[in-house]
Amino acid sequence: MLAKNIFILTGAGVSAESGLSTFRDKGGIWSQYRLEEVASIQGYERNPSFVLDFYNMRRNTHGGIEPNAAHVALAQLEEAWSARGGSVTLCTQNVDNLHERGGSKRVLHMHGEIAKARCHDCGALAPYDGDLSVNLGCAACGRTGGMRPHVVWFGETPLLMDEIYEALSAADLFVSIGTSGNVYPAAGFVAAARAAGMPTMEINLEASENAHLFDMGRYGKASEQVPAWVTEMVALAD
Ligand code: NAD
Ligand code: ZN
Repeated sequence: MLAKNIFILTGAGVSAESGLSTFRDKGGIWSQYRLEEVASIQGYERNPSFVLDFYNMRRNTHGGIEPNAAHVALAQLEEAWSARGGSVTLCTQNVDNLHERGGSKRVLHMHGEIAKARCHDCGALAPYDGDLSVNLGCAACGRTGGMRPHVVWFGETPLLMDEIYEALSAADLFVSIGTSGNVYPAAGFVAAARAAGMPTMEINLEASENAHLFDMGRYGKASEQVPAWVTEMVALAD
């Protein structure tokens, strides 16, 4: 087998063709909001209703979209690899659930999941796909006003990092898909992969600023490049 354990990092670009704007899109939602107001604990503490409404709006957008061919192909790769005794670790910076809906079984959401709510007071976590408001109470601790989206804000520590670094160090191929490589720690994964001696590849609309750190690059739409790569990998696997 070409690479037994594949580590894949995805970003907003993998969901772009499903209709979710990336963070860098001109005119996209992120150009209409100030990051520090909607994606920081300080912003939330200043104006919780404003922040909750922002995520309500995003969560509602997610309801009407479907996984694209890139999500589906990554699920096929996972299945093909596990059938052959290998593994695919899919680590995503995205808070949507399109990887799961595309069929992926194990997805590590390092920046959280918008379809879950977390209690700011006691940390209780539960699936929640309705609108959040400051009037909601926590089923676990009973306090009102602390139910927030389960997303990682700037200044907060990303989730599942031990599991992620363990999988990364055990991998023998690192692939980055649809991410600009600007936000750490995810932006540092490619350097960690190189240090561990594994080949690295990026699949992106165009070469990212970190392109020089990758041994290989495939450029174009994720919905075309990812299925083409997966087809080649599966053909070479036996
Ligand atoms: P990004 O918007 O920074 O980058 C998306 C990448 O996808 C770009 O390199 C773009 O060229 C590529 N892309 C766009 N359409 C594509 C397509 N159809 N096929 C393939 N590639 C395509 O998003 P990111 O890298 O996921 O951002 C990382 C993290 O940054 C996010 O998870 C989020 O937590 C955080 N964040 C960033 C900002 C910001 O303003 N940079 C704002 C809020 C949150
Ligand atoms: Zn609670």
